[in-house]
Amino acid sequence: MHDEELNDIDWKELNWWNELKNNINSIDKLKKYMNFRGDEEEKLREVVANHPMNIPRYYLSLIDQDNPDDPIKKLAFPNKEELTVSGSMGETTQDPYGDDKHNKGNGILHKYPYSALIVATDYCSMYCRHCFRKAIVGLPNDKTVENFQNALKYIKEHKEITNVIISGGDPMLIDTPKLKKMLNGLKEIKHVNYVRIGTRTPVVYPLRFFDDELMDYLKEFNKVKTLYIPTHFNHINEITEISKEAVLRIREAGITVNNQAVFLKGVNDSAEDIEELMNGLTSIGVNPYYLYQCMPVSRVRNHFQVPLSEGINIVDEAKTRLDGYAKRFKFIMGHDIGKIEIIGKVDDKLILKHIHSRPEKPKDASKIRVMELTKNAGWLDDMKEVTI
Ligand code: SF4
Repeated sequence: MHDEELNDIDWKELNWWNELKNNINSIDKLKKYMNFRGDEEEKLREVVANHPMNIPRYYLSLIDQDNPDDPIKKLAFPNKEELTVSGSMGETTQDPYGDDKHNKGNGILHKYPYSALIVATDYCSMYCRHCFRKAIVGLPNDKTVENFQNALKYIKEHKEITNVIISGGDPMLIDTPKLKKMLNGLKEIKHVNYVRIGTRTPVVYPLRFFDDELMDYLKEFNKVKTLYIPTHFNHINEITEISKEAVLRIREAGITVNNQAVFLKGVNDSAEDIEELMNGLTSIGVNPYYLYQCMPVSRVRNHFQVPLSEGINIVDEAKTRLDGYAKRFKFIMGHDIGKIEIIGKVDDKLILKHIHSRPEKPKDASKIRVMELTKNAGWLDDMKEVTI
């Protein structure tokens, strides 16, 4: 019934800013789309008190309401499993990437010498249930530009920074005039070679890219500093006519789009899921870049993380069926000690290779690690390092 209402909407015609007001952001609004059983309503109220809910109507329209296992629903709807802080997959943390240690103030994270990440906003058009930055909240919108100016000052003073990632939250949810003001400052910093804007809007809110003022600006910006858009498609059902068109508009501005998926139980944990996703991405001009192992995030790990012993088989099997471009992605752990590629398995040993390391351990930057793989291990810290 409600699907029909949503299916009739021409998303491209809507004003993206006004449409945010129609987001499903309370349990009362969710009642229209979900039947609660027993004490579920009470439990979900507790869940959203910890991690708010925000679902755009567009993303809601992708859900098959009759399918209890719908993958899109799992990414968007709160689940009482989120009340389990750690659980059987092991310990969890609110800061799996060690962001706190690298926080230089003003919303800037400086972990590797060459890259600086600016947390530009805490707002997203959708709050994904598996988000690894669940705990990062903070910058009220009116402070965003002021903080950004301070972040620019930091970048100017640190000549070793050759690239900047604008992240969040979702920077594409900052209104266009404000975003322009922020990006203008980056144009003038000579030692910055390129800029990335990390955003999930092509997936969960593609109507954002039908704002001509934004697209014209990004096109001009890209002529001065090369711009990349890392995005976050997790499932083939997220690739729709309108998301495809949004990606095309980005590509028409000369911007490369790379995808960073997260490997999630019940969402994309089969070789077919990975195969369909990666083939879908290459067909719309998005480069498969990373497939992240789900991090040990509090209220996420227990129900979303796939054990590595299963995960490596699934990814390997998918890769046997994919062409060269579709299998270019790296299966990785974004660990506090650096980014680590999960290369493969030899008997009960897992072979890993660092892609980045902490600056104080430069030699680790391309180190190979061999780990003893146990049945339930889901993260580096669950395994013992061995020599071969
Ligand atoms: S859009 Fe990105 S930052 Fe925002 S909730 Fe989703 S995963 Fe987290």
